[in-house]
Amino acid sequence: MKNERNGENNIEKNNGGRNERRGDARKNSAGQAGNQNRENRENREARERDRARERDRKKQSGGKQKNKNQGGKGGADNRKDTYVYVLDGNVYINLTNKCSNACHFCVRNERASYYGNYLWLRHGDPTAEKVIAALNALDLSAYKEIVFCGFGEPTYKMAEMAAVADYAHEKGLSTRLNTNGQGSLINKRDIVPELKGKIDRINISLNASSAEKYQPVCRSQFGEAGYTAMLDFARECRKNGVECWFSVVDIVGEDEVAACWRVAETVGIPLRVRKYIADA
Ligand code: SF4
Repeated sequence: MKNERNGENNIEKNNGGRNERRGDARKNSAGQAGNQNRENRENREARERDRARERDRKKQSGGKQKNKNQGGKGGADNRKDTYVYVLDGNVYINLTNKCSNACHFCVRNERASYYGNYLWLRHGDPTAEKVIAALNALDLSAYKEIVFCGFGEPTYKMAEMAAVADYAHEKGLSTRLNTNGQGSLINKRDIVPELKGKIDRINISLNASSAEKYQPVCRSQFGEAGYTAMLDFARECRKNGVECWFSVVDIVGEDEVAACWRVAETVGIPLRVRKYIADA
């Protein structure tokens, strides 16, 4: 987990996303009553989704500010682990603290919470049933996608992720995985066939243009093989028709971003450059 993972959704939101599509619909619908009705319905549905998300946000914070990172012992020690959290209109799933990397920039180095959600799991990794129960506390009709992300690397929990993904699909939600791309090394097998059909889209954190640059920053337990495995994972996703892309944060600098573009071209998947968004 790092700030940029969740920040991506801010970027997507700021880039227009649904609003942009609505704007196009308006342009094309001039003088066409049918299209106007559809637009009105879509706007109504969007407003309903916004209201439901706001209700969920209030429910999660207990209607007041008590979810803020309180630090120290007190509330933090007594708190419940967070398996599911809502941020910027998206639903995130937090399956584990385990990670094969120890990135310098990882937000969990500094805090147990993220935007008021306590993600450092103190009572063990959740079962799929616990995650599904937490999902059911939300009004799922207000969301379109769930994102496996959280404070660790989700591919440590393949079985749980698959079960939760199946449930999300049953509920009409799509699924995304944010990963460091080392899942096949972690699981000692090619995990891409298992992800296919369960995970609709995969965001692979590239972070650097070479293993030499990656390792000092991301400190994979697999050494420079972690970076190579990440590229192989991306190639396998592409070969298997699983939608995926690399991501890098713009704070690495223009030259490094340009080098990352070249890596992405070589692998044959897109690169998304995201703005670094600091936690509040
Ligand atoms: S890969 Fe692991 S250590 Fe690095 S940012 Fe993500 S969760 Fe943190």
